[in-house]
Amino acid sequence: MKRQDITEAKKKELIEKALEVLPNSYAPYSNYNVAAAALFDSGNIYTGVNVESASLGATNCAERNAIQTAVTNGDRRLVAIAVVGGMHGDPTGAYCVPCGICRQVMRDFADKDEMILISAKSAEDYREYTLEEILPYSFGPESLD
Ligand SMILES: [Zn+2]
Repeated sequence: MKRQDITEAKKKELIEKALEVLPNSYAPYSNYNVAAAALFDSGNIYTGVNVESASLGATNCAERNAIQTAVTNGDRRLVAIAVVGGMHGDPTGAYCVPCGICRQVMRDFADKDEMILISAKSAEDYREYTLEEILPYSFGPESLD
């Protein structure tokens, strides 16, 4: 699935799915709630929220939770991921973007020039970037060939 095959309606659907699970985010320490909805080339969509831990280091991000669930279910090709979030679960304050670790995890499962990050405040207000734009000059699977 190429970038141009991802319709406006599909982008809005991903944002809405992420917004739907945002209240499930578990972030009692940072109060920064995040949710993600990841579309794979099978057409399957997986959601995830950030899940913090009192040990802090055991915290996992929304994006990685979504991607790892997809991989668990046999999907391997990430084509788009919508991310929403903000302080106290308010996604309208700023466009939420993935942390560096999540960008690196996406790199294993995405074509860096085709995968779209949809960073959204709402289904009507979002920005989009390719993985190459948010993770330039990256280390990836082919680095180990
Ligand atoms: Zn992250």
